[in-house]
Amino acid sequence: SCLGIVDPKTKEVWMIDATPDFPQQLNELTQNGKYRLRGIFLTHAHIGHYTGLIHLGREVMGAKEIPVYVMPRLKHFIESNGPWNQLISLKQIILNPLEDHGIVKLNDNLSVTPFTVPHRDEYSETVGFQVSGLTSKLIFIPDIDKWDKWDKNIREIIKDNDYILIDGTFFGQGEIPNRNMAEIPHPSIEESMDYFSVLSDEDKSKVHFIHLNHTNPALDSNTAQHKTVINSGFNISFMGQRFPL
Ligand SMILES: [Zn+2]
Ligand SMILES: [Zn+2]
Repeated sequence: SCLGIVDPKTKEVWMIDATPDFPQQLNELTQNGKYRLRGIFLTHAHIGHYTGLIHLGREVMGAKEIPVYVMPRLKHFIESNGPWNQLISLKQIILNPLEDHGIVKLNDNLSVTPFTVPHRDEYSETVGFQVSGLTSKLIFIPDIDKWDKWDKNIREIIKDNDYILIDGTFFGQGEIPNRNMAEIPHPSIEESMDYFSVLSDEDKSKVHFIHLNHTNPALDSNTAQHKTVINSGFNISFMGQRFPL
């Protein structure tokens, strides 16, 4: 999963997470180079979330001093491991340190604020982001272990924001045969829908599940599971979806 932030007034774009599909996503976001990439925010050091940085090391990309915003442990990980640290020595990226709840102003219209969440933190801490525009606020949490392991109340966060893009990796228990799902904890979509059932219809409609694993039956809009999500008042995100801020 990946999220682009676009300011059509200034023709600037930022990306949250660099997936293996980074080049195509960047092309789409910048409309083949008409808009300028101003920075990349990373959530954590799991493969699908940062390895797209490698494309910035290719000469064809012509990347020069792209600001990459990272929390302290992730900064250390990139600085101390190849091939990522080569991007720094070749000045293709510049690491900008983030701090928990420290607001980053992108321009007069937009800001981004990271917040730490519990996740399998072998190589780095993990953050979600709040993206604030002039009229709306969006929450992006692609990975979190369980809602009740977090010191924040996600239900309050839903009430206080306008778009909630959250971990929908798995639909339910037993989805991955031959693997103990306790080793790869995520709040299943079933668990989240249950936990959010006390919310108003308006608050439920803000929730968009993202980061769906290929095993998740809700990926396919023809399945009963997908229909259950929609009929319960929630949403499944799709590629190219836009959220006006
Ligand atoms: Zn992860
Ligand atoms: Zn992930």
